[in-house]
Amino acid sequence: MRKLELRHFRNLGVQELQFPPEGVAVVGDNAQGKTNLLEAIYYLESFRSFRGAGDAELTAFSEDVFHLRGSVDGSEPTTVAAGFDRRTKSKKVTVDGNDAIRVSAALGRLAAVVFSPSDAELVSGGPAVRRRFLDVVLSLNRRGYLETLQEYRRTLAQRNAALRSGPGGPVRREWASPWEDRLVGTGARLTRMREEWVSEWSGHFARYYETISGGDSAAVAYRPNLGPGRTREAAGDPAPAEEGELRERFRGRLDDCWQRDARLGTTGAGPHRDELLVTIATGGGGLPARAYGSGGQRRTAALALRLTEAATIRRQRGTEPILLVDDAFAELDAGRSGRLATLLAEESTGQVILTVPKESDVRMPGRSLPHWRIQGGKVAA
Ligand code: ATP
Ligand code: MG
Repeated sequence: MRKLELRHFRNLGVQELQFPPEGVAVVGDNAQGKTNLLEAIYYLESFRSFRGAGDAELTAFSEDVFHLRGSVDGSEPTTVAAGFDRRTKSKKVTVDGNDAIRVSAALGRLAAVVFSPSDAELVSGGPAVRRRFLDVVLSLNRRGYLETLQEYRRTLAQRNAALRSGPGGPVRREWASPWEDRLVGTGARLTRMREEWVSEWSGHFARYYETISGGDSAAVAYRPNLGPGRTREAAGDPAPAEEGELRERFRGRLDDCWQRDARLGTTGAGPHRDELLVTIATGGGGLPARAYGSGGQRRTAALALRLTEAATIRRQRGTEPILLVDDAFAELDAGRSGRLATLLAEESTGQVILTVPKESDVRMPGRSLPHWRIQGGKVAA
């Protein structure tokens, strides 16, 4: 980020900020706007709050409209702008001044990854949280994923509606079957893309975890609802299942689940039931981090997931993501936070925007970041 213009986003008021190329450490007390600032920058990548807030909540209390505009240098200098009007609930996005653009076409034009204390939820939360992580990473980094996901969700909703809206009497398979070809086709493609991503990156995840923890191990594994590839189970071979095989398997699962689906009016099989399993090694083998991990182990695994996300952007988009590090060292012991700081400095040659509550918390070896102060939403260099 070279320049960021803010108008009425949360408590940040009207400001124009010029960021140093190496990044900055933003220091401020609690509730001054540190996370809001990172949220604003990430908004220009995803056009949503990384905290899950709605656009109306992002609009300053006393205003109806917010605007953001950010420019990045790099091989392709880009300016991304977004505006939201809470009266009409309309959102407008432009890339390099071109306003004829759909929000989905502007996704990921600006590359950034957020490291947040709330990421612990990625590991401690239910499977839906990790599916969402996969969906966000793949939507922003894999061509065709978002469209496939949207089509899958639409088809799933149509099939579920059909299960509930027949003329009465026992639910008949003919009501659901018109949707099943498309459900099976898009579902198999999603499963395949998720499986490819996990098999490409699980090694990176393990290495990041080992580095931050100082020698412990953890793993991430895909548990597709459609089951692991047959070839893979037999030979221990990580080759993802073929899409044709996945389609067949999805069809079989729909047949098996039919009584249940008819009774409940929902679809019990498919990638909307996938799990991305995070395990940590203990004496006796890998245990789910969700149930057995300590606070620090979960934080470490979440950091490793975010570092993997950054590495995916680097390789897939050929661009260095801005690292938005929100008080990431909170809750880590001295060894872990030191190793994390070293790893961040080694992994990223790009910009790092760090927030901390106290000057003494700025830890970024090998890089001296200028310090900015933030108070009541106002940033002072
Ligand atoms: P901490 O160190 O506790 O994480 P922080 O500096 O990250 O604090 P933020 O979450 O960035 O704090 O900002 C919180 C402040 O922003 C709160 O005081 C809140 O009232 C204010 N705020 C949140 N949403 C809006 C909004 N829509 N309009 C105006 N102010 C808002
Ligand atoms: Mg905060």
